[in-house]
Amino acid sequence: MDKKIIPLADMRYAARVPHVPAHLQAPTGLLADTLARPLHDLRISVTDRCNFRCSYCMPSEVFNKDYAFLPQTSLLSFEEITRLTKIFVAHGVEKIRLTGGEPLLRKHIEVLIGMLAKIQTPGGQPLDITLTTNASLLAKKAQSLKDAGLQRVTVSLDGLDDAVFRRMNDVDFPVADVLRGIEVAEKVGLAPIKVNMVVKRGTNDAEILPMARHFRHSGVVLRFIEYMDVGATNGWRMDEVLPSAQVIERLQAEFPMEALSANYLGETAERWRYLDGAGEVGVISSVTHAFCGDCNRARLSTEGKLFLCLFASQGHDLRALLRGGNYSDEQISAAVGHIWQRRDDRYSELRAALPADQSLPGNDAARRVEMSYIGG
Ligand code: SAM
Ligand code: SF4
Ligand code: SF4
Repeated sequence: MDKKIIPLADMRYAARVPHVPAHLQAPTGLLADTLARPLHDLRISVTDRCNFRCSYCMPSEVFNKDYAFLPQTSLLSFEEITRLTKIFVAHGVEKIRLTGGEPLLRKHIEVLIGMLAKIQTPGGQPLDITLTTNASLLAKKAQSLKDAGLQRVTVSLDGLDDAVFRRMNDVDFPVADVLRGIEVAEKVGLAPIKVNMVVKRGTNDAEILPMARHFRHSGVVLRFIEYMDVGATNGWRMDEVLPSAQVIERLQAEFPMEALSANYLGETAERWRYLDGAGEVGVISSVTHAFCGDCNRARLSTEGKLFLCLFASQGHDLRALLRGGNYSDEQISAAVGHIWQRRDDRYSELRAALPADQSLPGNDAARRVEMSYIGG
């Protein structure tokens, strides 16, 4: 018999059915959680599948041919995603990021983008719609994504050295094809493009300077991300994190730079500008410099569970409200408001107080949901 392995730590089904308040309060667009944080960004995971096996996200020993990915019927349909997005927008969401897994693997993703592009904020503005991709299919799809209403893309690329990159994606995918994807995306106007590089000390930190040199003067904003302890399968260790301060030090040694102020409240990247006018770079210091105080992001998993933090171990099953009980939009909206108003997550700020060894009691790592499931 075909054996399907689901790791013990897989908490995909850990979600509570949200409480639907009896008194329905209409959304004001001004929701705030217990730490006075508004709801501004919604990240939507459209598939839990990926054609890469980056070791920090979907290690091939776990996500192998026996791994049970979600069946098609579990995924939110485009109509369900659109219905929920409208509800979130009424609560104040202005920015949507499609992610995964690899979002370009979701069939007919352009149709979903077209549906989302028609939604307006209560003030009559279009939504800011972006997508994060490994770019393996970007050259082929960029034009149709743009035509459907996508505004920008963020591309993940962990190095320029072909051997290093092939090792990191663990499926022998060449750098040249990602660079080609970026080029085509730029040509069709999916710009400004951001490139995210996860830095793992001892694995790809020698790629920091080559990446910076490559993307200077290109208009692409390169961002260095600290390797995070997301999920329960990547075997994260603090000594593999290269603190952003050291990334900046290495860059400064070759290119004088100055710090810039944030573009908007809740921006995750700290911005730096090359003094010679070659553009800007960013660092995302989720491990060494917590930024929970401004965190205004909610995450919707592939099967419709709402997660309030990247490090949460439990979600809120919105799909249960979509598919059962015949709930109205007003009722689902009130349930979402109820959830956000009770949010108190601030994992990155609390991390320092946890036992560093993920196997020790008190460190909840084994129960954490995977990044490929809720999206980055
Ligand atoms: N497959 C798409 C991609 O790679 O761009 C979208 C999904 S991926 C989960 C979203 C982002 O999360 C990527 O930029 C990836 O590098 C980042 N990511 C995944 N695991 C990470 C980890 N352990 N630490 C830091 N960033 C991580
Ligand atoms: Fe796939 Fe993105 Fe995760 Fe890499 S980071 S395994 S490309 S979902
Ligand atoms: Fe937001 Fe959670 Fe990250 Fe803090 S740890 S910034 S609350 S996602």
